[in-house]
Amino acid sequence: MEPLHRLTIKKFHDGLVAKEFSALEVAQAYFDRIKEKDGEIGAYLSTAEASAAREAEAVDIAIAKDETVGPLAGVPIAVKDAILIKGQPATAASKILEHYEASYDAGAIRKLRNARAVFLGKTNMDEFAMGSSTENSAFKKTRNPHDLTRVPGGSSGGSAAAIAANLALGALGSDTGGSIREPASFCGVVGLKPTYGAVSRSGLIAMSSSLDQIGPFTKTAEDAAILFKAIAGRDPLDATSADADYRNIDHPVLNDIKRLTIGIPDEYFVPGTDPAVTKAVENAVEKLKSLGLSFKRISLPHTKYALSVYYIIMPAEVSSNLARFDGIRYGGTGKQHRKNLAEIYLSEKGLGFGPETKRRAILGTFVLSSGYYDAYYDKAQRVRTLIAEDFKRAFEQVDVILTPVAPTPAFKFGEKTHDPLSMYLSDIFTIPVNLAGLPALVMRATTTLAAGELPIGFQLIGKKWREADILGIGQFYEQL
Ligand code: GLN
Repeated sequence: MEPLHRLTIKKFHDGLVAKEFSALEVAQAYFDRIKEKDGEIGAYLSTAEASAAREAEAVDIAIAKDETVGPLAGVPIAVKDAILIKGQPATAASKILEHYEASYDAGAIRKLRNARAVFLGKTNMDEFAMGSSTENSAFKKTRNPHDLTRVPGGSSGGSAAAIAANLALGALGSDTGGSIREPASFCGVVGLKPTYGAVSRSGLIAMSSSLDQIGPFTKTAEDAAILFKAIAGRDPLDATSADADYRNIDHPVLNDIKRLTIGIPDEYFVPGTDPAVTKAVENAVEKLKSLGLSFKRISLPHTKYALSVYYIIMPAEVSSNLARFDGIRYGGTGKQHRKNLAEIYLSEKGLGFGPETKRRAILGTFVLSSGYYDAYYDKAQRVRTLIAEDFKRAFEQVDVILTPVAPTPAFKFGEKTHDPLSMYLSDIFTIPVNLAGLPALVMRATTTLAAGELPIGFQLIGKKWREADILGIGQFYEQL
């Protein structure tokens, strides 16, 4: 068997059907590695060894009977703890859900189950996906596998770290303002935030419903295409989900890709960005030029409002989505010693939610309150439209937009925890994409790392439903 660090989803599938190894052997190898390494990394909140073994064995039986199996059969997957897998814990890294066990599979999980993937366990995250470093988890720290003194990014930090440390072959995360892309950049892996509606949000513990999307983390763009294709598509349980044509997404044609024009927005190259980030992104541009792609400078003039708009719309939706966590439902405890309902709510929410979650629920309640609604929420919705229109206009001139992912590489633990605003700035280049509902892919810009150097990603933003363009570019880029 190939050592785990060389395995990709593609290579795993080829080896599995050639009977070079069994799905069970590989699942076992991942659990062995998790036991050996995850004490140091902290990617997982829970593992599911027994059910994973059963899932893997079923694949091996099918192969022994010479049944044809799809590209995800037996593939060991890690899943962000905000995504429900029936019978497994789903805490969203919050104390208020500490004792909750999912009673159904999320839409994306159902599709992966039909594709016969193997679920290794649930990964750490910022509480309810609010954060950019995974430091807001109520349970543990996740360390960046490239430098254990630094954060893996967030909020899907556990999933990104699991891929970077070879603790899973593929992973799912969710992205509301950058939570797949920023950790992918920090950990040097591939991350895709799909078009809003491309992947069902059913069974994703909701943060901000008009922005949330589930997407894959992998080692290669080819693997991201395979995993994305498997989870994409209409689900009757999510009214915003839709079908699109992704048939050849994992087999791009170079001549089609060469014809694409890439836009570079002036507004994304601003003072305050770490010079290492600018250099890494310029590197990626040079490489892509050698593929024959053409570039053009563009402008997205309303970019400067994106962060403010996001920090009004997102908390408004958070305050409404989090109202259901009342300390009684979803595994709540401690009902006995309270005098009345109000006391239960106050004490359970007070103890169950962390400070960032409270900050956002309170902010959201404020912006929605009567008298302030027009000044904040309504105005933010109007500016959101302007931001989306910027992209529409840009996409009349170019097919794809290339930008940095975050202003810095992975930062140290504690560096930003005392200043929420500086943490929020980590998402300045990723948030506009969610506000406009577009797909975006993060790939590594720095291919070889000198000692002490940190990975840095670049972001390719596509037109709605055109994941094929960005994943196609990614697949040829990685062949360089
Ligand atoms: N870091 C951003 C936030 O804190 C984005 C989070 C996310 O995408 N879930 O809101």
